[in-house]
Amino acid sequence: KQVVMVTAYDRQQQFIGHYCFMKDISDRREIDRLKDEFVSIVSHELRTPLTSISGALDLLAGGVLQTQPEEAQRMLNIAASNTDRLVRLINDILDIERIESGKVQMTPEHCDAADLMNQSIETVEEMAEQAGVKLAVYPLSAPLWADPDRIIQVFTNLLSNAIKFSPEGSTVSLSAEITAEKAAPSSKQILFKVKDQGRGIPAEKLESIFERFGQVDASDSRQKGGTGLGLAICRSILQHHQGQICVESTLGEGSTFFFTLPIASKDDTETIEPENTG
Ligand code: ADP
Repeated sequence: KQVVMVTAYDRQQQFIGHYCFMKDISDRREIDRLKDEFVSIVSHELRTPLTSISGALDLLAGGVLQTQPEEAQRMLNIAASNTDRLVRLINDILDIERIESGKVQMTPEHCDAADLMNQSIETVEEMAEQAGVKLAVYPLSAPLWADPDRIIQVFTNLLSNAIKFSPEGSTVSLSAEITAEKAAPSSKQILFKVKDQGRGIPAEKLESIFERFGQVDASDSRQKGGTGLGLAICRSILQHHQGQICVESTLGEGSTFFFTLPIASKDDTETIEPENTG
């Protein structure tokens, strides 16, 4: 709590008195702390690829191009892949900032769950083929009132993670079922499942991976090309759709990511207002 003192004057600038009141600033402090933490992680995350790019360019400028063309090619590849990483990071950072601050308006429309599932699978087919991972989809038709591009973004994030952390020859599956909402058993919701037979996630990381930059292993970003922001973006998008996301996992056996969306009723036509989550 903070004590705030206010001095009051009347219209003729005559002193009236002092007012003293207590203000609860713990929430604001927490928000400021989270913002500071975010800025410091972002600066660190951006600096790492930039340092690699600038190191590679320094070597090239130093004449390595003439003396060691193979080394020069290697430096160019390092600069190029780190530039890609910077672009991905900046896009993800801007995305999550816009969604969480409510600057992005979701544009909901009537859509069918099966269509969204099929479209998402198409998006990751190429990636799965390259990784030698099989895809299985069990589309379920159900009406949704949602922003289709954003829901496909959630699916493709979860599917590409599942593929990334799976061994060759294993299967990633996408399925769905209709369930009743726990809080309101009369309202129906759809529960989507993205299941893999990958390396699994340790129990103590099951919550932190949904935080911005939360990764199981610091090397995940470098080796797997991730930014650590994908799941935080998924959670944010789903919050805007009254949906929830969670994960179950067994180390060495695989993980299943679940998320829910409410089934649309016929009178669902209002726009989804972005919530300001600070
Ligand atoms: P990233 O861009 O690093 O994939 P995400 O927020 O999507 O960021 O995921 C955060 C971290 O959670 C990943 O870096 C990885 O450590 C872990 N993770 C996510 N999905 C899986 C999965 N299917 N299997 C194992 N680990 C996973």
